[in-house]
Amino acid sequence: MNDLKSYVVKGDSKIKLKSFATKPADDVNKEKIIKKTNANLERMEAFQDRLYSEGKEGLVLIFQAMDAAGKDSTIKNVMSGLNPQGIDVFSFKQPGLEELSHDFLWRASKNFPIRGKMAIFNRSYYEDVLVVRVHKLYENFKMPERCKHGDIIGKRYEDIKNFERYQYNNGYRILKFFLNVSKEEQKKRFLERIDLKIKNWKFSESDVKERAYWNEYMKAYEDAINATATKNSPWYVIPADKKWYTRYLVSEAIVDVFKKIAPQYPVLPQAAQDNLQKDKELLLNEQ
Ligand code: ATP
Ligand code: MG
Repeated sequence: MNDLKSYVVKGDSKIKLKSFATKPADDVNKEKIIKKTNANLERMEAFQDRLYSEGKEGLVLIFQAMDAAGKDSTIKNVMSGLNPQGIDVFSFKQPGLEELSHDFLWRASKNFPIRGKMAIFNRSYYEDVLVVRVHKLYENFKMPERCKHGDIIGKRYEDIKNFERYQYNNGYRILKFFLNVSKEEQKKRFLERIDLKIKNWKFSESDVKERAYWNEYMKAYEDAINATATKNSPWYVIPADKKWYTRYLVSEAIVDVFKKIAPQYPVLPQAAQDNLQKDKELLLNEQ
């Protein structure tokens, strides 16, 4: 099945991550898929130009995944179809002191693009309900007790949902991609990073430590997806064991949202069009 519809989650019913494929079906033709991806990348560039010229709607693409699921290479592929002047990429690393001293949505909010532009978030505020939940990092937060007790993660789901609705009401669309890699494929990629000298830099000791929490992470992802998927800010659970297939589905989702936005080049008011004609005459009559 290479239909994007099988991978989108809009919150109408609860999903189980286990029931989502991590690889394409055997009959999916790689060559054809790559061709379709390239066609999508071309369409994206045309859409982006109109999005920018119109300046009405902003688009934020969030990428979340376990290590080595292919966030970086998927982002690189998406970017290859876009004008870098209309899009920014932000990587959300471990928060520093300034970030930790603010509310958890502050750093994301600060990096939202102006309308007309796009942003890619490599990780995001979802880390605040994923790694923070798995390792109970909230226990050490410098916050009043009332903020740390009770269902802190449950409250954050609500905050995220409200934040995303707020952004939607302000002219933004947010798409959330979970690159769904299998545990076996992650192991293969880690081993390659260790064995191949030019890939050593991509490997960090903490990667294997986090892998030990695989089941806890899957539960955290499943709960976060179920709690925050909505019609206007859907999640896409994308098979990530084959990079060519991941890229294709991500490009499909982006083309899809562009079709919904349907950006148009602005049409100038009559007075401005008349001025253009005057300028044209000036240019043509230049000595
Ligand atoms: P790669 O490993 O492919 O270079 P990466 O996204 O894993 O990319 P790293 O620098 O390895 O980048 O990891 C960033 C780390 O920061 C991740 O382990 C992530 O869980 C952590 N992180 C991000 N946001 C938060 C947060 N709000 N609280 C705690 N940890 C966070
Ligand atoms: Mg990492």
